[in-house]
Amino acid sequence: MDLGAGWRAAGACLSADPDLFFPIASGPAAMKQITKAQQICARCPVRQECLEWAMRTPETHGIWGGTTPEERMRVRRARTAQRRVAARAAQAHEWPLASQIRAS
Ligand code: SF4
Repeated sequence: MDLGAGWRAAGACLSADPDLFFPIASGPAAMKQITKAQQICARCPVRQECLEWAMRTPETHGIWGGTTPEERMRVRRARTAQRRVAARAAQAHEWPLASQIRAS
């Protein structure tokens, strides 16, 4: 997977109307644009790279990898929660070791 910017040259959106991917309004007209953009993303050969790039950057606008900003925010929050749970589990696992070291 190319997480540089090289994947952009293969994007299915290159020949599409950029306004579809960055609707400036909300409501039914914007939803229609978003749906069209997501249909283009669905057949894009670099969708995964695009999505990962958008997840790794503070990209808060537009359709990337077939996702809306709100969808990416939900995924970021879920990933953050998973990392916190993993960190707590790792810390809980280390505590017994720390007390053994102090006791020795
Ligand atoms: S996934 Fe969508 S926004 Fe990303 S490069 Fe492909 S068509 Fe463009």
